[in-house]
Amino acid sequence: MKGQDVFIVGAGNSAGQAALHLAKHARTVTLLVRGDSLGRSMSSYLVRAVESAANVRVRYRTEVVDGHGDRSLQRIKLADRANGNEEEVSAAALFVMIGGHPHTQWLPDDLARDPQGYVITGPDVLEYAGTRWERNREPLPLETSMSGVFAAGDVRQDSIKRVASAVGEGATVVRVAHEHLRTDEPERAPRSAMGV
Ligand SMILES: Cc1cc2nc3c(=O)[nH]c(=O)nc-3n(C[C@H](O)[C@H](O)[C@H](O)COP(=O)(O)OP(=O)(O)OC[C@H]3O[C@@H](n4cnc5c(N)ncnc54)[C@H](O)[C@@H]3O)c2cc1C
Repeated sequence: MKGQDVFIVGAGNSAGQAALHLAKHARTVTLLVRGDSLGRSMSSYLVRAVESAANVRVRYRTEVVDGHGDRSLQRIKLADRANGNEEEVSAAALFVMIGGHPHTQWLPDDLARDPQGYVITGPDVLEYAGTRWERNREPLPLETSMSGVFAAGDVRQDSIKRVASAVGEGATVVRVAHEHLRTDEPERAPRSAMGV
């Protein structure tokens, strides 16, 4: 992106971090924001950094509606949400930072997920419509609807989406897994029957 004019769609921290990183190399970086402020979705330290970067600008109330190019992207079409006016601008690249989704579709149906695919854990398992919980105890923290299977980090429903919290949950799961092994031992398959 060195010396190029690049665009980023999004108004969250990911978009802000990408803008500041790209600004070190690109000629200009333009953040395309559907709303009319960054403050609601981006941390204030990032908003300040974005606003004070000489080659970063923000276009509010703007949507990308089209893109063209021969082999690679060369132009994008932007629509002004306020008046519907469209404008075509040169663009060497478009980075789409509008959120993520969990790759949990490979998990079995017995492991409850919300409509977005985030894994339900802890007491929420009991409250989640349609979820089966077959133990005679409550789900442990971070335990999924499949007893003995735990989830930590971003993949969990309502997780904090921060490195520190993901790492903390990972560490917590070790303790909780031990708790599961200790308390559920009598309920597991009879060892004698398995010859163990
Ligand atoms: C652009 C961006 C900027 C961010 N900035 C910050 C920040 O400044 N500070 C902060 O605290 N947080 C930040 N975050 C959030 C932070 O990165 C996450 O909260 C954190 O990484 C979550 O850790 P995790 O282990 O739950 O998930 P991830 O880090 O996503 O790790 C999950 C891992 O599982 C792997 N995986 C997925 N499916 C499978 C499978 N089927 N089999 C095997 N492996 C699989 C993935 O490849 C990945 O390596 C940022 C996120 C983004 C996207």
